[in-house]
Amino acid sequence: MRDSLEGLRDRLARFAAERDWERFHTPKNLAMAITGEAGELAAELQWSDPADGLGIDPDLRTRLGSEAADILIYLIRFADVTGLDLLSEAKRKIDDNDLRYSVSLSRGNADKRSG
Ligand SMILES: [Mg+2]
Repeated sequence: MRDSLEGLRDRLARFAAERDWERFHTPKNLAMAITGEAGELAAELQWSDPADGLGIDPDLRTRLGSEAADILIYLIRFADVTGLDLLSEAKRKIDDNDLRYSVSLSRGNADKRSG
């Protein structure tokens, strides 16, 4: 299998089709699943000390990887059922952010501009 978003997309589509789960994979359900998994990721860090690095707790790193994978899986599935090209959308967003947050005004400044 190709090690790419397309390869993962195809594998996930096959996984859903084999289980007759496609009817459950609506944009709404998948968006809610992404949100839920993002909450699980945040919960893993909820009471952690920001001074702690990820390298000191291999079990935490494994759990974070699992939750990040859940998010990615649902996001890829969401993009598939909605016809979004994730890489194109991400590149467009990064281009937008390049314009929105110039280095000269944003360097070392975490202020978020609205708009
Ligand atoms: Mg999870």
